[in-house]
Amino acid sequence: MDFKLFGKVIIRSELEVKTGMRIGGTTGGLKIGGLDLNVITDPLGRPYIPGSSLKGKLRALIERTEAANNPNFWNEPETKPEKHLCQDEASYSRCPVCKIWGILGKEGFGVPTLTRLIVRDSYLDSSSITEEMKQNLELDWTEVKSETAINRITGTALHKSLRQVERVPAGAKFKDVELIYNVYEDADKDILIKVFQAMELLEQDYLGGMGSRGYGRITFKNVEVFWNTKKDYEDGNIDLKPERAINPGLDTPAKIIANYDALRQKLV
Ligand SMILES: [Zn+2]
Repeated sequence: MDFKLFGKVIIRSELEVKTGMRIGGTTGGLKIGGLDLNVITDPLGRPYIPGSSLKGKLRALIERTEAANNPNFWNEPETKPEKHLCQDEASYSRCPVCKIWGILGKEGFGVPTLTRLIVRDSYLDSSSITEEMKQNLELDWTEVKSETAINRITGTALHKSLRQVERVPAGAKFKDVELIYNVYEDADKDILIKVFQAMELLEQDYLGGMGSRGYGRITFKNVEVFWNTKKDYEDGNIDLKPERAINPGLDTPAKIIANYDALRQKLV
């Protein structure tokens, strides 16, 4: 089968932080500013959301729903966290998860295993951290919370376990969240709905760490969906002006899912 690109669906959105969010950075063993757990930052020292973190979380969430319908979905059900990766061509050919999110590291199915979804890094909208918010922040863009590590069995705090945890404050917004979805075959236009479903699942879950303590609730806002065909690219006719969005009035993942057929029909 000959695979060629039909076009790209570009999903743009803002992401608003509803409860303090912590996507971990690396301190290289050093405590930065006395913090035990810091957030990942861009070269300007502002928190950002790596595309790989967002993409991985979306995959994990959609995997859970797929597994609910298919008990054989997990490769190794005993291991936690559960992981899924198709092991043969037959299952791959009907697996939206591996088609969309990719199957890196596996070869030899005899079919091209192309990754449909690319997720860009998204950066803090610094204007979303208002002067009023800044007065309550311990650091320039982030807050610091003390958290105790809990003994999972007894439910009590571990001795000397207080940690300084950095997090992005509620109300922060990340702009230019961008998901790029390559369409290689007609069926890709149908399984695209899984991307919006994963986004909606994320709004009911959490992004980053310490979700069990209520961290990382987020919401997608002002979602815009664009469709650029291969010809648009060849003609240099790519623009992402709001009037070219194919989802007028459907600015959240939930609204898009509820009206997916209307959006699907525009992918021609
Ligand atoms: Zn799969």
